[in-house]
Amino acid sequence: MPDTTTDWRQLEDRYLMNTAKRLPVTVVRGEGTRLWDDAGKEYLDFLTGPSTVSLGHSHPVLLQALSEQAKALIHVTGTIPSIPQVKLARLLVENSCLDRAFFCNSGAEANEGAIKLARKWGKQRRNGAYEIICALNAFHGRTLATVTATGTEKYKAPFTPLPEGFVHVPFNDVEAIKRATTDKTAAVLLEPVQCEGGVNVPSDDYLRGVRRWCDEQGILLILDEVQTGIGRLGALFAYQLYGVEPDVMTLAKGMGSGVPIGAFLAKEHCSVLEPGDHGSTFGGNPLMTHAAYAVCKYIIDNDVPAQAAARGRYLERKLRGLEDRFPFIGEVRGKGLIWAMEFDREMAEEVVLACLAEGLIANNVRPTTLRFCPPLTVSEDEIDQAAAIVERVLARHG
Ligand SMILES: *Cc1c(COP(=O)(O)O)cnc(C)c1O
Repeated sequence: MPDTTTDWRQLEDRYLMNTAKRLPVTVVRGEGTRLWDDAGKEYLDFLTGPSTVSLGHSHPVLLQALSEQAKALIHVTGTIPSIPQVKLARLLVENSCLDRAFFCNSGAEANEGAIKLARKWGKQRRNGAYEIICALNAFHGRTLATVTATGTEKYKAPFTPLPEGFVHVPFNDVEAIKRATTDKTAAVLLEPVQCEGGVNVPSDDYLRGVRRWCDEQGILLILDEVQTGIGRLGALFAYQLYGVEPDVMTLAKGMGSGVPIGAFLAKEHCSVLEPGDHGSTFGGNPLMTHAAYAVCKYIIDNDVPAQAAARGRYLERKLRGLEDRFPFIGEVRGKGLIWAMEFDREMAEEVVLACLAEGLIANNVRPTTLRFCPPLTVSEDEIDQAAAIVERVLARHG
């Protein structure tokens, strides 16, 4: 077997589909906020999957849950009940405004499920309405329906024809949603903060305005909390920060701290799916739901979201310090523990590569935008180290 860094890189090029611009690193081990590559070099992980390894790499709570459940029962199927799935559903329902959960394996699948639910609801309750209003710059996933909801032209163009029924309006603009609403509208689908779109934080009253409009019109509000949910914004769910309740909510990324799991949850009044309408072979699998239960329970019992909010404020102070020093930083923006640094030119990729060389993994979420989403458990000391690396790199690039 080849065992040098170079060889693994060549094998990647030879055997993997060329769907991602991969960083020039092959990681072999993680612990907490740290990763190690195949040459033993250490990195601070301020990307985490993105926003996925919520408790840090190989958290003991997750390791124990995985090994205990792997010995007991790994997989059955949706028609055979297992205890972990019910426990996780109950935990999420009792800690949210939603009433019922369906488990799947990713964020895109969670959104697919929510879209199917909204379409069926529209058929039954709103005269066959099926359109879903989405925001420009959104990110909802890569399946045909979710890539259509995502709306970004370059993600969609190669794959036409796409499903009908998605309408796009500018984010953070309630009036645009009002203008786009017709008797065909079934739902509005939004991220509370657009994470992949560049960490776009709406004004505080945006979601309240959207909620009011949905109530007036009798249409559903679906919040895609795949990235914002489970503590990332400094509350268990982002909707809690904005004083609204969604009718449907989707989750994935952070809920398993790295194991693949997603969910969509609905309030009783719109929980219209019946036997035969939807399913997933691996969805709700005992191994994944037991792992996610352990992760979510730990996050709730230890108020990890509050800790993430405090660390987020610390990270914000550090980044604002850099903003004052380097004139090419146009803006620092974020919420909770997801932050972006906006440059006045397309330099994010070279900054990411320079940070990597210095032992920090961050992400160029846009050509002009650097993003940081460390584990919710990141320490102030680790934030200091990361900020020092960013400062060194920017000093060279200024
Ligand atoms: C990542 C993401 C998705 C897609 O999740 P996958 O697990 O990659 O399918 C959907 N919505 C949001 C907001 C995301 O950040």
